[in-house]
Amino acid sequence: MKSFPPYRIQVVKDIPITTRAEREQALARAGYNAFNLPADAVTIDLLTDSGTGAVSAAQEAAAAAADRSYAGSESYYRFRAALDELTGFEHVFPVHQGRAAERVLFSATLSAGRISLSNTHFDTTRANVELLGCEARDLPCPEAADLDSDEPFKGDVDLDALERTLAGPEGDRVGQVLITITNNGGGGQPVSMANLRAVRALCDRYGVPFFLDAARFAENAWLVTRREPGYGGHSPAEVAREAFGLADGCVASLKKDAIAPMGAFIGVRDAELARRCEVNIIATEGFRTYGGLAAHDLDRVAQGLREVLDPNYLRARAGEAEQLAGLVNEAGVDIVRPAGVHALYLNAGRLLPHIPPHEFPGHSLACELYLAGGIRCVELGSLYLGEFDEGHNLVAPAPFELVRMALPRRTYTRAHYEYVADVLADIAKHPERVARYRVADAPPILRHFKMTMEQLPARG
Ligand SMILES: *Cc1c(COP(=O)(O)O)cnc(C)c1O
Repeated sequence: MKSFPPYRIQVVKDIPITTRAEREQALARAGYNAFNLPADAVTIDLLTDSGTGAVSAAQEAAAAAADRSYAGSESYYRFRAALDELTGFEHVFPVHQGRAAERVLFSATLSAGRISLSNTHFDTTRANVELLGCEARDLPCPEAADLDSDEPFKGDVDLDALERTLAGPEGDRVGQVLITITNNGGGGQPVSMANLRAVRALCDRYGVPFFLDAARFAENAWLVTRREPGYGGHSPAEVAREAFGLADGCVASLKKDAIAPMGAFIGVRDAELARRCEVNIIATEGFRTYGGLAAHDLDRVAQGLREVLDPNYLRARAGEAEQLAGLVNEAGVDIVRPAGVHALYLNAGRLLPHIPPHEFPGHSLACELYLAGGIRCVELGSLYLGEFDEGHNLVAPAPFELVRMALPRRTYTRAHYEYVADVLADIAKHPERVARYRVADAPPILRHFKMTMEQLPARG
């Protein structure tokens, strides 16, 4: 039986339909950087699944009833209740978004010279570690390096490498272990409960705190119920609670699995750590019962956290991603396997072998998806992860040239995804016609948000 979403569409927003000539102009004006495109020039926006999901009638009703009291608002207590039920962390603080949670927690757990170990640090997470003068070290499991294998838990951390580091000469410098569920920087792949339990045991043995970056806790839990032996009979809520129960605390953007436009939280068990976070939050985000969020955000989050754990919702969402993955494969384009839930990662390097890394095959494919069909997505390849010299020349390419198609929650229908696959199929028929790019200008850090590019003619 085909899965279907457990909701019907009650409020809609028009999407812009444009011509190729209009898109060519818009992309040139944007310096061939999709982050510079005005949204009214984009037909299908797969740039991110962050804050872009459709809110429910129940979320809007909760938002309308929000209480804007400065301290101790009713909205805060509803937010607390939802997170208490889900996480069991003794201390929970709202903050305005995930990167604020990172900044606040890491300033309390890390000091200059320390090392943060992870399956993969997300980009803002890495930036917040490095801004403190610390090193963010990624230890993905070896299975993650094979994009084509169907291993179920390619988001796992490499336990041998983790233990070697904790036991080795640098062990004293490790300030935290941070596991990202699902592993956004690592192809959106899930982390197994067995891996989380092993991390817990290692952190206990070596006396290091263990945190989760839990932006997609529900999607990770869903994949655990599907793929991990012994979890087939568990509900996603039970798996999520067990995962939080293994950690000393977490940071989590609520713009993903709380299906809310804005929000995040920090959860910790330790009272002294909580006190240090609280002081920082009051000084930089807001009082501890709103943390930079409007009351209606707290209420949308509290309701969204319950909706996201509905197995019918998660089954339909994962089904959408699998269906799009199938269409993309039929179109002749490979993805990072197996398909995750929040995004598909297209193997642009394999589709465009005639475009070398320094002419950015991932960026070429992302631009062509926009030019051909008004579809916006983002490169995850040498442009994003490679190393450059001061003249903007690529000196060390990324291991893979990928394009991420993020799937906003409850936003697009199967017909939209069929259109995306059609556009991709047309491109895949004539890969030699795809233009190449060079960097015109780029800032020294967080390059992909601000750089401008120049188009070079296709090689075909
Ligand atoms: C989005 C995200 C963040 C940052 O959250 P924001 O709310 O965008 O600041 C951190 N970690 C992961 C894994 C994310 O996906």
